[in-house]
Formats: sequence, C-alpha cells, structure tokens
Amino acid sequence: MSKAAQSLSIAAIIVAAGKGERAGGGLPKQYRSLAGTPLLRRSVERLVRHSGIGSVVVAIGEGQEALAAEALGGLDVSIVTGGATRRLSVLAGLEALMAQTPDLVLIHDAARPILPASVINRLVDALGKADGACPTLPVADTLAENGAEIGDAVPREGLARIQTPQAFRYAAILAAHRAWASDDEPTDDIQVARAAGLRCVSVAGDALLDKITHEEDFALAALRLGACTSVRTGMGFDVHRLAEAEELWLGGLLIPHDKGLAGHSDADVALHAITDALLGAIAAGDIGDHFPPSDPQWRGARSDQFLAHAVRLVRGRGGVIEHVDLTIICEAPKIGPHKIAMRERIADILGIPVDQVSVKATTTERLGYTGRGEGIAAQAVATITLPKEL
Ligand code: MG
Repeated sequence: MSKAAQSLSIAAIIVAAGKGERAGGGLPKQYRSLAGTPLLRRSVERLVRHSGIGSVVVAIGEGQEALAAEALGGLDVSIVTGGATRRLSVLAGLEALMAQTPDLVLIHDAARPILPASVINRLVDALGKADGACPTLPVADTLAENGAEIGDAVPREGLARIQTPQAFRYAAILAAHRAWASDDEPTDDIQVARAAGLRCVSVAGDALLDKITHEEDFALAALRLGACTSVRTGMGFDVHRLAEAEELWLGGLLIPHDKGLAGHSDADVALHAITDALLGAIAAGDIGDHFPPSDPQWRGARSDQFLAHAVRLVRGRGGVIEHVDLTIICEAPKIGPHKIAMRERIADILGIPVDQVSVKATTTERLGYTGRGEGIAAQAVATITLPKEL
C-alpha cells in the first residue's frame, strides 16, 4: 500500500446473508467448515488482520444471528442484518458505516475465503485515480454458446473474470447504492457504481480468491489453504513442588492425593506446560510474561484461564490447534485412572476434539526430584497451523 493510502481510513463489508443452497449440506455455505474453520470466519479474518483496515461489518441473513456469533466469536467485527438481496445487504452494511464515514470501503463476498493482502493493497492504491476498483483475472478457456450442442465460440478478448473485494470511495458508493433505481439486481457493486457514473478500474486478481459455489469447491479450497498454511510446533516444560496441605490440580482436574502442588496459582504443571507450548508455537513469550507471579491477581488462580488465554492468542492469529501431546512425570499419584477425564477436560479448554489431545505419563524410576516424590514435572508439544501471509 502506498504512503498516501496509509493515512486513509478504510472499512470493509462482508456480505454473508445468502442461504448458499447450491453447495448442499443444509447449513448456509458461509457457516460450513473449511478445513476446520467456518468459511465466513476465514474470509473475515483476512480483512480483520490487514493493518490498513480499521473496521469490519458483516451483513448476515435474518435468523443467522446464533450461527454468526458462533462462527465469528472473538473477532472485532460489527454484525448487521442484511436484506432480501445481495444489493440490499451491501446497502445495510454501508448505512451501518455512516457514523464513522470511512474514506474507503472494501466490499467482499464471504464465499472467497483466501484473500491475499497484496490484492487489498493493489485495490487501495488504485483508488488514488478512480472511484472504484476490482480484482480481475483473464479468461483462459475458450468461451462458446452451449445449448443442445456446442455453438459458436464467443470472442474472449477484452473480457475479464471479476472477483471481490471491490474497493470504493465510501461516500460515492453509498450514494450509488441509495440511487439504484432498476428492478434488476446487479451481480456486483462495480455495476452499481458504474450505473451512477463512477469511474471503475481493474487490478490484478488472484486465483486463490476463487469463489466457493458448489460442493466440490470446498475440497479445492482446502487444498489451496493447505498450500497457504504453515505448521508450527511449540514445546512447554514445567515443574512444581509437592507439599502437604495443598490441593492437587493436574490437567485441569482436582485429583485426590495426600499432597498437592505448590505455586503462586493452582500450580497445575500440566496446563502450564501446554500453555507454554501454545505460546511457543506463536512465539508469544511464556506463561510468566503473560501472568507474572509478582501480580497478586493470579494468586491461587485456576490455570484453565491461562490456557484459555493462550488459545485466544492462537485464534487471534488465525491459528488452528491441530494437536497437543502432554507427558506427566511423577511417581505418584497414578495418572492412568485420570487420563480419559484429563484428555476431555483439556480438549474442552482448547475447543478441539478429544482425539487431538494426548495425555501420557511416566516415572523417572525413582531417580531425581520426581523420583523422590518432591515434585511433579510435565512437558507438552503443541502443533498448530497458521495462515501464511500472502
Ligand atoms: Mg508453573
């Protein structure tokens, strides 16, 4: 993005009000999972995480409030109810931005989940010399009339495939939408802008932006996402002392034992090790940086909140927790009887299926501090995927 563009206020509207029936599966397609994350969330995250975009409005269908809240949990967006058509949903989003009147607005379809930042930058830069801009790709295939049999080829020179997001000067596109008088529904916002006499130009689009329309498009998008995802691994290690007159919190469970772990918080070494593993995977420091032992508010604190905080940080980066492997090292208590409950509790805090959480235990053959029963140690490895910056 150019220097001049960096001083502009930019908002984005995501249109997600459709019923998406062509993709099958019952659920509107924007709420369906694409490689473990709702399609809508993936589309919204790309806009929220772009440093030039200040606010994001999501226009949803009436009655989709609960679905949207679940899909977008934790993201800083405002949600408005869209209209009966795509155009009316865009208008609802534009009206919702009236209070802040941004300089520019990007209007994007929820069904295009892989949005490279480079496309956003090209669009914003193009508005230096135009009222509207859209990403386009050339038509590579031969186009022909098609009925009962194949007819004449149609010249493809001068034709373009038009994608979203489409970018506009906010005041101009708001006026254009308000002035739309035709009974016909426009297929996109560039046509609304052109009908109002606005000058619109194209920038280079990206094949990654292709729209998800049919069932088979989900599989292709998942393949593309795989190529746009990096795998990160983090490890965590923790030890706490065993002491009389303490409760034993381990793996998020209160376990009956004659001693408990001592520490500033509830001293749950297992959750502390997993927390550090997640923080390590996103290179976000360690548990002591986020919850300093010197801070009295964490005295006796339950460690599930430390882990939940790390989970939020991973999600905030658009990350997905793929797997956690925990090893608890002690002579006593026996961990075996608690393994299943521990896996379920940890999976619950992480918000992932229990088969992606492993809990193992070992002793140190009575050697060292764990062998003498002076303390319990835990180590954990977390594997996450993060979207690559495009
Ligand atoms: Mg600790």
